[in-house]
Amino acid sequence: MSGRLPYLNSRLQGLGATIFATMSALAEATGSVNLGQGFPDYDGPAEVLEAACEAIRAGHNQYPPGRGIKALRDAIADHQRHWYGLAFDPASEVLVTAGATEALAASILSLTEVGDEVVLFEPYYDAYPALVALAGGTHRVVPLRPPTWGFDPDELRRAITPRTRLIVVNSPHNPTGKVFGNDELEAIAAVCRDHDLIAVTDEVYEHLVFEGEHRPLATLDGMRDRTVTISSAGKTFSVTGWKIGWACASPPLLDSVQTAKQFLTYAGGAPFQHAIAVGLALGDDRLRGVCDDLAMRRDLFCDGMGAIGIDVMVPASGYFAISDIGSLGDEDAATFCKKIPERCGVVGIPNDVFYDHKDDARTLVRWAFCKSTATLEEALRRLAKLSQSS
Ligand code: PMP
Ligand code: GLN
Repeated sequence: MSGRLPYLNSRLQGLGATIFATMSALAEATGSVNLGQGFPDYDGPAEVLEAACEAIRAGHNQYPPGRGIKALRDAIADHQRHWYGLAFDPASEVLVTAGATEALAASILSLTEVGDEVVLFEPYYDAYPALVALAGGTHRVVPLRPPTWGFDPDELRRAITPRTRLIVVNSPHNPTGKVFGNDELEAIAAVCRDHDLIAVTDEVYEHLVFEGEHRPLATLDGMRDRTVTISSAGKTFSVTGWKIGWACASPPLLDSVQTAKQFLTYAGGAPFQHAIAVGLALGDDRLRGVCDDLAMRRDLFCDGMGAIGIDVMVPASGYFAISDIGSLGDEDAATFCKKIPERCGVVGIPNDVFYDHKDDARTLVRWAFCKSTATLEEALRRLAKLSQSS
């Protein structure tokens, strides 16, 4: 055997390490402020953390049921009804997963055949093309264009071929913070209905919306029974390491997703499932509190960046703000992000990792602002060195 990773399956060739792991390791090695990987450096609601400790003490430490504990499936069904008017039967239409990632993996693996095509909006969350590749499929992209990150419905229609099976829709969107509007959701729904496609929605930032309103695609006409609606507790409760996610869908779709899921992890996170059931029942004000708190961090960071002369696009939702670093020198973002840990001690993510068309993101950098005030202030102090030296 010779060469790197001789046992690597050919479907994994070219994927390499995820940018988030690479950049977190770089932050650690250089003592940099980590504005790369999207995770808070503060805790979420104390009641939810305490509920997890209590669940461990109460002995909820063995395999939970494959579909997830009843209390959490009930809480997810209540959540979907309460926030969006979507009725899902907790017994047959709700599946608890190891984060949104496992729900996405099980959906793509179970709902596509080898050779099928999956449509993604670009920029895309990096797991999507990787999961499509693992399923033996290929993806096509529909560009979201700045500054509004809107898409052209004709480009969406042109991306559909006889091999298209799924459209993945991430709203609220990573990395742009875009919240898809009603007209856009309607355009996607029309394409799904006309071509008999399944939609897989990634709604992990559903409760972190600062401007506009999140509307699940499943609420549109004819979409409930052709959509797998996916979310996760990680962002809503600032517990990204717990990896409790879920999928809601009509029984035939959900049964397919579970067929794949049962052989990925089977089940997991028993005490955390109990805690998230408590979290989902905390009430609207607590969830809005997490969002308002994050909005304060967004403003602190974006205003601070403006003050030090590094423009950012102020996002409508989520954990991230994007800068065009073109004016800071003639480097591309990938080079810039490799150099700035040494130059000023901050880590960001070059946006080309979210693109097939790398040139469209040549000078774009993503910063995570889901950080404590002290972390953000320190990052701004350090980043100021860049604009002073350019
Ligand atoms: N989708 C998007 C758009 C994300 O940003 C992330 C990162 N948290 C995930 C999915 C993964 O979610 P989880 O940690 O629940 O697997
Ligand atoms: N969703 C996180 C981000 O976009 C990363 C999660 C991960 O490392 N896979 O930064």
